[in-house]
Amino acid sequence: MNTQLSIRLAKVKPSPSIAAKAQVDALRAAGRKIIDFTLGEPDFATPAHIVQGGLDALAQGHTRYTGSAGMPALRRAIAAKFARENRLCFAAENIIVGVGAKNLIFNAFAATLNEGDEVIVPAPFWVSYPDMVLMNGGTPVIAPSSAASGFKLSAEALEAAITPRTRWLILNTPNNPTGAVYTADELQALCAVLRRHPQVWLMTDEIYEHFVFGQAQHLSPLNVAPELAERTLVVNGVSKAYAMTGWRIGYAAGPVSLIKALTLMASQTTTCPSAMAQAAAVVALDGEQDCVRAACALFETRCDRMVQLLNEIPGIACAWPDGAFYVFPSVAGLLGRKTPAGHVLASDMDVTLFLLDHAGVAVIDGSSYGMPAHLRLSFATSVDQIEAGCAAMRSAMQALS
Ligand code: PLP
Repeated sequence: MNTQLSIRLAKVKPSPSIAAKAQVDALRAAGRKIIDFTLGEPDFATPAHIVQGGLDALAQGHTRYTGSAGMPALRRAIAAKFARENRLCFAAENIIVGVGAKNLIFNAFAATLNEGDEVIVPAPFWVSYPDMVLMNGGTPVIAPSSAASGFKLSAEALEAAITPRTRWLILNTPNNPTGAVYTADELQALCAVLRRHPQVWLMTDEIYEHFVFGQAQHLSPLNVAPELAERTLVVNGVSKAYAMTGWRIGYAAGPVSLIKALTLMASQTTTCPSAMAQAAAVVALDGEQDCVRAACALFETRCDRMVQLLNEIPGIACAWPDGAFYVFPSVAGLLGRKTPAGHVLASDMDVTLFLLDHAGVAVIDGSSYGMPAHLRLSFATSVDQIEAGCAAMRSAMQALS
């Protein structure tokens, strides 16, 4: 059957990170040994006390629908988390729980965009932002950045991207794919631009907030510009911090009118997130946070090893990320080189395919994140895998002429 896609869906690409995972699974099923650096999730299990919270919730009968904005206990736990960890003051009515942060970002666009409304998406960007804008009739306006600015959006680039049709700026700190973490001064400069354009709302995706390295510190834009709270949606979730990607619990905080609109969206789509997963999220947020600190320390060790080993490979140049669990090296030095079969590596996509075929290493091309001539590698994997993968990449590249 030839399925006729809607005009909106026909514009949308499959998520490259989800496609990469499917490709790795298929190659492994066919018997190939693949070292996977595409992972967008912690490689360890959800902490035992949180799993127990989920099991207890089932035993206690949390097996029914909840309110569409989420269980009162979880909304209270999220408000307490914002106050404790982010110094942000939200009441429970300012908060909604969703089926992952992704679901809330999508619903926020669905609830606010009209045909042709623009959303500023700084590049490099998480692969889903532009497609979620397109699916909701909006126009993604990609705002460039450069390696020289640490891949961060400048006030000038933001100002240049704003038009009367701009509805949202979406900011992601710490950033997927670059690991960039915005400083107070950088956020101040961006917020100063937003202050001059009252039609532009700010969506701030802080899902990697707990993974910051060295001297870097996570700040929400609302920490430096609290007066923007009336037009800001803070998006976060338990997926990354507590290794709970499969539980599908995200949350967002914002003005009551927007939270009501998101609740309406949920009521006519997903109804509510899984009740037992919400109960487990209460345990995650209210419980001990040593598990989060331990995960961050582990990621930092792996990050150091990966950056060091990548920089030993001729043709690859990798800056140290300040956070998240990805590195985003330049492979400009490999472009134009020839594979043993005589193919020229003309793009980062070619490098990605070459690494998969000749090194058995899966990575994602930077073009998918809006930044050609780069690769995204996840270090949410063991040091052994990092060492083996980098060694395989290095020896495959020695065969290039
Ligand atoms: N935002 C960013 C920047 C991400 O990288 C991801 C997942 O990869 C998400 C949001 C989605 O998280 P969730 O599992 O809560 O839907």
